[in-house]
Amino acid sequence: MATNSIKLNNGVDMPALGLGVFQSAPDETSAAVEAAIATGYRHIDTAAAYGNEKEVGEGIRRSGVARDEIFIETKIWISDYGYDEALHGFEKSAGKLGVEQIDLLLLHQPLPTAFDRTLEAYRALEMLLNDGRVRAIGISNFMPEHMERFLEAAKVMPAVNQIEVHPYFQQSELQALNAKHGILTQAWSPIGGITFYGDGKRSTLEDPVILDIAGTHGKSAAQVMLRWHLQEGRSAIPKSTKATRIAENFDLFDFQLLDEQMAAIRALDTGKRSGPEPESITLENYGMAIPET
Ligand code: NDP
Repeated sequence: MATNSIKLNNGVDMPALGLGVFQSAPDETSAAVEAAIATGYRHIDTAAAYGNEKEVGEGIRRSGVARDEIFIETKIWISDYGYDEALHGFEKSAGKLGVEQIDLLLLHQPLPTAFDRTLEAYRALEMLLNDGRVRAIGISNFMPEHMERFLEAAKVMPAVNQIEVHPYFQQSELQALNAKHGILTQAWSPIGGITFYGDGKRSTLEDPVILDIAGTHGKSAAQVMLRWHLQEGRSAIPKSTKATRIAENFDLFDFQLLDEQMAAIRALDTGKRSGPEPESITLENYGMAIPET
């Protein structure tokens, strides 16, 4: 039976399931975080670039649950890459969250056109880890082509690589590469949120195979996808601002997908990414100043 606990490669315990808050409007974020914590979540995933770290911090404080019982994950945006810039990025995030220490700090994207700045930013994360300002460090959207050069320079193996993973885009080779290095794969858009919109897109929530499996367990398509992540040993960070869905997405610990159901979901992979191509991220097209407060 999959549980909600994962040990990172540096021994730190992380709840496998977290609440995501990308595109959660600031005025809805505190309430969503509070609802999640009341439901039992003990892990929130935000980012400097989401513009809602302050509201995440406020929701955590309002929940009444002790700070050290909540696992806070955030990410440094590419505009704050470079050594001094990333150290300052950490101070900005910690200040907005209202915490002294961040549990997991990631580089949000590789910056292929300025890879040296990416490496310098990671060196800052290593320093923050050394100083106890963060409990674990990692990366996001790093593809196999970025990994080799990155790992040559890194002194501390990243604990996590947060990447797009849902039934329609599984990145199995990248997941295997992460595993080979002891890096935990964390799934963003874990119920395929990124597949819901746009011309010609298919929603994973309406997939007949997933709905059929859901029917056999009396569960929803979202619950089946989240359970699939947990049974494959991944962390997942579903986003919702609706209390009923936040609760639904956590109600995963009373059923088990069968081997053939796991295989049927694995067979849905289209190999097509829905999010931006990581190689195409540049400061020119995605740069934005992260406010001081
Ligand atoms: P998700 O797969 O979490 O899907 C979110 C969407 O599904 C929202 O539209 C939400 O709407 C809806 N939803 C949530 N629960 C249910 C449910 N039970 N039934 C039906 N609909 C539901 O996609 P995201 O793209 O939001 O990814 C999740 C998190 O991953 C982000 O919040 C962020 O933390 C992280 N992320 C990281 C990225 C990176 O580059 N590192 C990129 C993208 C995401 P509603 O809120 O209205 O309920």
